[in-house]
Amino acid sequence: MGTVVDAPAVVAEEVTENMLGGKKVTAVFVLGGPGSGKGTQCANIVEHFGFTHLSAGDLLRAEIKSGSENGTMIENMIKEGKIVPSEVTIKLLQEAMIKNENDKFLIDGFPRNEENRAAFENVTKISPAFVLFFDCSEKEMEKRLLGRNQGRVDDNIETIKKRFKTFVESSLPVIEHYNSRDKVKKIDAAKPIPEVFEDVKTIFAPYAPKHLLALPFPSFPLLSPLG
Ligand code: UDP
Ligand code: MG
Repeated sequence: MGTVVDAPAVVAEEVTENMLGGKKVTAVFVLGGPGSGKGTQCANIVEHFGFTHLSAGDLLRAEIKSGSENGTMIENMIKEGKIVPSEVTIKLLQEAMIKNENDKFLIDGFPRNEENRAAFENVTKISPAFVLFFDCSEKEMEKRLLGRNQGRVDDNIETIKKRFKTFVESSLPVIEHYNSRDKVKKIDAAKPIPEVFEDVKTIFAPYAPKHLLALPFPSFPLLSPLG
């Protein structure tokens, strides 16, 4: 009898979970220290696996450029390597997911602390399919950040040190949270870009677009207008 009574509650939970703007969303959190290669590998994942890439840092930088009333506050936080209040970042991520017709998202560089994580889950009701964690030494990340020239106000040695500190103190606990729930897929991100992507591909294999997997050679003539 108990199962009959309990069943509707279970169904209701399945229906509301991960629903956003009328679609069921698959979200992967892409985490790792500054310069660990999140953005670079996300571009590869977009190309091969049909995800949409949402970089929280890029959304915040766009918000500064748009002349938003929060712009100055966001810019100051970024210069100091601090974490922008979660309401701001969550609103930008949520709007971007609703606006985009895709249902598979890479959320890059978010959540950055436990408060970000809890607020995102509470507000959006989305929990990640898994967390992709790019593991890299500070020495290597520092070399990459100082070597790239993207005109970013935070790619200078003083801010880089602050970003490392924020990562260790605030962001690693988020990875620990998901690790204790077996949701973290950790990658050695110190290797060259193509080698890292090989490991990424193995992880994303279950998300490969079906039309690319399921076309056996003999079916190609069906595509011809002459049959
Ligand atoms: N940032 C933030 N919340 C986020 C993402 C980024 O506050 O969810 C801020 C933070 O100050 C961070 C900066 O934006 O240091 C740059 O973040 P991004 O992910 O672009 O770069 P990363 O530090 O990972 O290289
Ligand atoms: Mg980035």
